[in-house]
Amino acid sequence: MAKAEKLEFQTEVSQLLKLMINSVYSEKEVFVRELVSNASDACDKLRYLATTKEKLLQSDPDLKIKIEINKKDNLVTIVDNGIGMNKKDLVSNLGTIARSGTAQFIKEATETKDLSLIGQFGVGFYSAFMVASDLKVVTRKAGESKLWIWKSDGESNFTIEESDDLDQLNSNRGTKIILTITKENKEFLDKIRIEEIIRKYSDHISIPIFVQNSGDKEEEKPEAINSALALWTRPKNKITKDQYKEFYNHVGQMFDDPWMTSHYKAEGQIEYTVLNFIPSTKPFDLYDPARENRLKLYVKKVFITDNCPELIPPYLRFLRGVIDSEDLPLNISREMLQNNPVVKKIRNALVKRTINDLKKKLAADRASFEQFWVNFGPVIKEGIYEDFEKKDNLLEIALFKNSNSTKLITLDEYIETMDKKQMDIYFITGDSYDNIINNPSLEGYKSRGINVLILDDPVDSFWTSSTPSFNEKNIKSITKGIDDLDNLGKKKKDEKEKKEDKSIEPLIVLLKEKLKDKVKDVRTSSRLTESPVCLVADESSMDPQLEKILQQHNQLQQGISLKILELNPDHKLIKKLAKMSKDKSSIGDIENIAILLYEQSMILDGEKPSDPVNFSKKLIDTISASIN
Ligand code: ADP
Repeated sequence: MAKAEKLEFQTEVSQLLKLMINSVYSEKEVFVRELVSNASDACDKLRYLATTKEKLLQSDPDLKIKIEINKKDNLVTIVDNGIGMNKKDLVSNLGTIARSGTAQFIKEATETKDLSLIGQFGVGFYSAFMVASDLKVVTRKAGESKLWIWKSDGESNFTIEESDDLDQLNSNRGTKIILTITKENKEFLDKIRIEEIIRKYSDHISIPIFVQNSGDKEEEKPEAINSALALWTRPKNKITKDQYKEFYNHVGQMFDDPWMTSHYKAEGQIEYTVLNFIPSTKPFDLYDPARENRLKLYVKKVFITDNCPELIPPYLRFLRGVIDSEDLPLNISREMLQNNPVVKKIRNALVKRTINDLKKKLAADRASFEQFWVNFGPVIKEGIYEDFEKKDNLLEIALFKNSNSTKLITLDEYIETMDKKQMDIYFITGDSYDNIINNPSLEGYKSRGINVLILDDPVDSFWTSSTPSFNEKNIKSITKGIDDLDNLGKKKKDEKEKKEDKSIEPLIVLLKEKLKDKVKDVRTSSRLTESPVCLVADESSMDPQLEKILQQHNQLQQGISLKILELNPDHKLIKKLAKMSKDKSSIGDIENIAILLYEQSMILDGEKPSDPVNFSKKLIDTISASIN
């Protein structure tokens, strides 16, 4: 026998193991769910490989999972005749390479003490250490000759060795996981207890699961504990809510309740069955670029892949579940899926159906839809600019914060409450609701009772830039271009006011000169009621928030474009400055104040002052002068 090779656990894995070993978590039974789930995945993978390499299944054609309990030696063994692992698989899957969810799981488990979430983060295997002092994995990869043994006591290292004793597995392939159960966890050495756990979590697993006490005579026709039927093939009225949930938990690697369950068979040109779920909480990796699609593709009940990006657009990536096609060939390769017309048709139908289902839910249960929107609205909004065809349908179900109320509203609801004279849909973008709602640019709209959509997701800057209208109404930024508030007619200026406006022209000329490096233009506007000034973008410029995001990601060719400084001609400070501008001796003071006004506008826009040192100096000078 070759010498055992010692390997160190990756640091995060070590931390995770400590958490498992020391856990006082009460629902340790979830380790059964995790190991059975892995065994079932391993069988699914083999079944797929065997569609092109039949030989792999031949000598042992019935896929199964067996759990054996040895009370005398405190052992629980879980055996599958699935795909198995070779040395390389063992090293990378069980110990040395951190999975993307490890750190996140450690953080959440430390905070919530809820270890049942473990499977969600792709580290379920290690849950075995909640109940076992030692773990031994005996495994042989299908089609390969070598048998490998992985061993660990959950401390900082583990060993891998090759073994000549091929009889350690009853099959020529698969994995056997042997757990030495600790004194405190003896309850898991009870056959009835294990069977109960399997019924609770794993009834939907489509591979038969058998439980046996070691030493018991092999039954001729043992009975599986689970029903071992692909759940989606059963009629809807024969499936309980709990069975759906269990299936969702397994297939979606989510441990909440599904927010929406969608189970149907499409029959027509192409035939397929869908059993899909939308989670009620946000998956931890929703924004992780490396995350894989969690929709599993099956062909005639054989698992093909859970990595088929062609099956759903990224903006529906929160969907979990199964699509089972009757039309694709069983031996389809992942490459062949790429431009496959059947996959394309399924995708189109799936998108249409999902959006329709969401629309119905919006109409039927607003409060619940709002919860969904809080979780996945920003993801759906990616579709508004990615999926030109579905843009309008997505806009119809989108909900928005707004300046007139604290409730979320749809665009249709926005339009319904528009004044007759208001032609456009107004919005403002920014990095948070609280910052935006206090932005001076909103004042003129608020004072006239005109509603403005408050868009505070980064994605909003993108879709608004490529969406000029909805239902024939322009979608217009209120921080870009000249405001049209005076045309909205609620407050028309009289002749006297117009004359007063004229009297600030010398001030405008002066400010243009003093701020020429900082702003593109200076002008008056009706946007402001309380504040003296604000900054807006030129009509032809990019949305300021979009510019900011692109700059943060180093994707802005030119620098940030210069803004336009707008003055509130009715503000007492501006009136005073207008008067001062006629007196040459005050020009120095006006310059200081101009810079202060400009810089504080930057701050209100969520920016840093352009020249903090100068800003701070001028601020101190001005304060000092005011208390003299
Ligand atoms: P996950 O199953 O979510 O990927 P785990 O920590 O449970 O995370 O398992 C890690 C990996 O180890 C699996 O992805 C799989 O590649 C491998 N693995 C675990 N159990 C088995 C098994 N019984 N047969 C084959 N491979 C397995």
